[in-house]
Amino acid sequence: MTWSIRWKLTLGTLVAVACGLLIAGVMTVQALEQQYLAQFADALEAKTKLVEYGFQPLFHSSFSPPTPSSLQETARDLGNRSSARVTLVAADGTVLADSAVRDADVPAVENHTSQPEIQQAFSTGQGEDIRPRHTTGERTMYRAVLLRQPQEAAAIAVRVGLPMAIVDREIAELKRHLLLALGVAFLVALPLSVWLAHNITRPLSDIASAARRLSSGHQTMPIRTTAQDEVGLLATTLNDMAGQLHAKIDELSEDRAQLLAVLTSMVEGVMVLDSRGHVLQINPALERMFGISRVEARGRPCAELFRHQQLNDLVTTILRSRVPGEDEIVLPLTGRCLQIEASPAGGEREREACIVLVFHDITELRRLEKIRKDFVANVSHELRTPLTSIKGYVEALLDGAKDDPVTSVKFLEIILKQSDRLNLIIEDLLELSKIESGRVSLKEEPLELRSAVDRTLSMIKPIADKKRHRLVTSVDLSLPPVAGDEGRLVQVLTNLLDNAIKYTPEGGTITVGAKLAPPIGNAEPAARAIDLSVADTGIGIPEEDRPRVFERFYRVDKARSRELGGTGLGLAIVKHIVEGHGGQVWVEANHPQGSRFVVRLPVSGGKRVSTQLSETSKV
Ligand code: ADP
Repeated sequence: MTWSIRWKLTLGTLVAVACGLLIAGVMTVQALEQQYLAQFADALEAKTKLVEYGFQPLFHSSFSPPTPSSLQETARDLGNRSSARVTLVAADGTVLADSAVRDADVPAVENHTSQPEIQQAFSTGQGEDIRPRHTTGERTMYRAVLLRQPQEAAAIAVRVGLPMAIVDREIAELKRHLLLALGVAFLVALPLSVWLAHNITRPLSDIASAARRLSSGHQTMPIRTTAQDEVGLLATTLNDMAGQLHAKIDELSEDRAQLLAVLTSMVEGVMVLDSRGHVLQINPALERMFGISRVEARGRPCAELFRHQQLNDLVTTILRSRVPGEDEIVLPLTGRCLQIEASPAGGEREREACIVLVFHDITELRRLEKIRKDFVANVSHELRTPLTSIKGYVEALLDGAKDDPVTSVKFLEIILKQSDRLNLIIEDLLELSKIESGRVSLKEEPLELRSAVDRTLSMIKPIADKKRHRLVTSVDLSLPPVAGDEGRLVQVLTNLLDNAIKYTPEGGTITVGAKLAPPIGNAEPAARAIDLSVADTGIGIPEEDRPRVFERFYRVDKARSRELGGTGLGLAIVKHIVEGHGGQVWVEANHPQGSRFVVRLPVSGGKRVSTQLSETSKV
């Protein structure tokens, strides 16, 4: 059982008061007893002197020595007068007279040699003793002195015994009064000590409950106290401490919130490890990168959580060397490429930040790098092919073919065709570069798609007719205008129709359509778009090639494309122009046969379908 400080204080005070009262009482009783006894002894001494004086005439008479009866008579007389027992004892202890016994019984009184006061009297001249009376049991004080006698007479002691009943009664009475007084004093002290303990401990209880609230993290009201003593000082100190603590907690919470906001909003993945390589913290970006949750990651060893040899080797190296390091890893499941920068954070103990790893997702960067490299290789290759051909035919002409007019005309025609092709590639490349670099400013004027479609079809019709293709138009007349550059949109349509004609065997059907795009989710009407499509019944594009046909120089069938005079840049130009209009372009299968290219353009005054150019279009 635990005792509250209030009870301890109350009981302590009461015990102290009780002990004090007890000691004071005992000492008072003892002192008074001593005083009573001293007064009693003084009275007895005076009586003894009187009695001894009363015997003097008998022993100093010149007539004859005193008879036993005269001694007994005097003893009784003096005993009556002094209200005490008077005894006359000879040196051998024989009782010569005793006021308390009858005359006849005096000789039978026992020898008094053994009585302490008698022994003292015969040896020092006087003696005193207190003891219960042999016959009555009454406590009695005895005093014995030697009787003054002539020189030659045998020593005789006079003893006076005074019953102490009155003194004892008075002392008992005194004790009773004192006990009563002490009891009353104790009863008065009882509520006083309770009140005192309550008063002292009340501010302490307030302080204790404030400290408890503080320890449980609650906001505490300041402790109100008017005390100027140590308790007041404690309360003031605690108030100051609580204030500082709350300020510190607020500051820490703010720092933590800011840190969390930074970590949460970061595109880079962040992971913090302790000195054992256990995860302390990861941010949402890292959760997404690795498909793990913060809850399952926290506290687990990094090696066990990621099971990526390269990553674990990096962590082990940094943990050992404590110098910054970096590496690049590829995630086996997603194929994403991550660049990791690891820096030591200084923490040496368990659950202290020891390493901070920052993960940059450079998949797109690496992909773009690859596309760029491929592009350079492709451009060189595309330019080298006609150049090699031209060089070959020129050499053949110089070697003698020029002398044969038929061969030389044939060779020169080939050289012209290859030069045209070279020219076409360079023109397309320059066009692409212009669009990319933003040197071509796209107009954004409301434009009726129908007119752009008609304009393009009239231009393309002669080429289509050559391959006996049927051109079909399906344009919704009630369509709202789109925001765009008519010249560029005609270029888009021309490229798509040119491809459709090229990659469709003779006698095919090519359909140009335009309709309102289906709404996406709860898109507002302002965000509506128009889908412009070019569908053919040609050779089609395998599904795996569809996302790549918009890359530069990407061809499904290189030989066929070259043979048909393609540069491999037509669709890349289409994609750039469409995205420049804030639209999207994709290809899908046309049923039952062929391809269907769809260009989604925002209606005039509407929002852009895709405000950003895709990464492919940037290369
Ligand atoms: P090219 O000048 O080679 O036609 P493009 O960029 O216009 O280059 O087209 C890229 C490739 O996409 C073509 O080489 C071809 O393989 C494929 N392609 C484009 N349009 C069609 C189509 N309508 N039908 C089938 N394949 C097509």
